[in-house]
Amino acid sequence: MPRRKETQLTHGGRNPAANHGIVNPPVYHASTVLFPTLAALEQSHSNPLEGVSYGRYGTPTHFALEEALCELDGAEGAVTASSGLAAVHVVLSAFLGQGDHVLVTDSVYGPTRKLCDGLLKKQGVETTYYDPRIGDGIRSLLRPETRVVYTESPGSLTFEVQDVPTIAAAAHKHGAVVVMDNTWATPLLFPALKHGVDVCVHAATKYIVGHADAMLGVITCRQGFYEPVRRAALAIGNCAGPDDVYLALRGLRTLAVRLRQHQQNALRLCEWLRRQPEVERLLYPALEDDAGHTLWRRDFTGGSGLFGAVLKPCSRAALAAMVDGFKLFGMGYSWGGYESLALPITPAALAALRTATDWPHAGPLLRLHAGLEHPEDLIGDLQAGFERMRQAGR
Ligand SMILES: *Cc1c(COP(=O)(O)O)cnc(C)c1O
Repeated sequence: MPRRKETQLTHGGRNPAANHGIVNPPVYHASTVLFPTLAALEQSHSNPLEGVSYGRYGTPTHFALEEALCELDGAEGAVTASSGLAAVHVVLSAFLGQGDHVLVTDSVYGPTRKLCDGLLKKQGVETTYYDPRIGDGIRSLLRPETRVVYTESPGSLTFEVQDVPTIAAAAHKHGAVVVMDNTWATPLLFPALKHGVDVCVHAATKYIVGHADAMLGVITCRQGFYEPVRRAALAIGNCAGPDDVYLALRGLRTLAVRLRQHQQNALRLCEWLRRQPEVERLLYPALEDDAGHTLWRRDFTGGSGLFGAVLKPCSRAALAAMVDGFKLFGMGYSWGGYESLALPITPAALAALRTATDWPHAGPLLRLHAGLEHPEDLIGDLQAGFERMRQAGR
């Protein structure tokens, strides 16, 4: 019988019986791996994708995390990368080259857009951005040379939910590879490979590590897609540090309980924020009146802790008065740790990150990560922030 997610998280990727009974897999620090005979050396050349042959090719520490992620995503194979963005690069390099075309969601993670418009363009790959709400309309953008459709749902700044199964069906009919950045939902809340995704990228830096102390990416691949991804990772020289992999394995064990609390706190914050006159709109698919709620309900099994609050237009000074004085919400990049974060983003910055769609709001966006603090303490911090804003005047 297949194990349920919580059980997979607890038991995946570890084998105490093979490790002196010790509960957690060991951290292997390795570069050189010694071969006892010429035959063993030659054997390792014949299959570089398997086994332990050189530090960069992976150690049992990496394989433990990969095995756990494979089980969670129902994947053929998984590949760890040195960061989430490195994982994106590995995947795009695996399937795209000179003369190829890629369709990328307009709501894509900013540095992924930069990668497409910079390095990939220089390598002769053309990118077209599509409206994240395009659904079956994606068909009209597919060209003979379109090799990859790159989705991310919801967008991690603007939170549009995509109809991934419909987009994947259209892409597959065309023979394109469907890639998804599933960092927001993790393998727990959106089973990407079951919804038609071929290759799934997780910025493990966020919820999988979960404690704001490591950079890591993991790629999971449906049957037939593992080998090209692994070969690209090896070719680029991508590899993750073993201590960071260990931190991801440790974080994984508590992912389900953390996510449940992140969602509960996010919902409570939204309920309160909704009643503040400075808040124009909330962007969180778990809310019934969110534009993506119907799709989210159909495809997702929960929400994580990251959401947006669009504020009514205000002066920079008023915004600064609010965010500079937060006691619990930290201001900074990344998210998915145990702690709460608030990141203000100007409408101009949001508009500059889009080319296929308009950003419709005139006020700033406050991207919030609901951490694991008591939600009423977080509300107190927000309340004081809004009061400072009111005192500063518009
Ligand atoms: C953070 C993030 C990444 C990149 O992960 P890093 O580990 O920071 O390189 C990719 N996609 C999304 C949606 C992210 O939030």
